[in-house]
Amino acid sequence: MDCLECKKKIIPYLDYELDDEELNDFVNHIESCKSCREDLEVYYLVTEGVGLLDNKDRDYNLSKAFKNRLSDTDKYLRRLSLRRILAYAADTVSFWALFVISIMCLRMLIL
Ligand SMILES: [Zn+2]
Repeated sequence: MDCLECKKKIIPYLDYELDDEELNDFVNHIESCKSCREDLEVYYLVTEGVGLLDNKDRDYNLSKAFKNRLSDTDKYLRRLSLRRILAYAADTVSFWALFVISIMCLRMLIL
């Protein structure tokens, strides 16, 4: 993902509208590109800050909230990749189980 594409996805990211693959590409870019990360932070602070204008809780820490948001995304992506690995492992195990059962059935038919 290049910077232009990344910047176009900042708002969809903040609105939770990216699909899993876009989210993964987006986060990878954000982690390696300081400029886009700063843009994301500015957008986040502005959009969340506007929402907080009516909020009486002045101690709310936006910058901490931003870091939490990124870390939640990271946790989500890790869980997603773990689920994919487990699904792949389960597929592989069931394939081989079926394969072995088929061979045993064939052997019984032949012998
Ligand atoms: Zn960038």
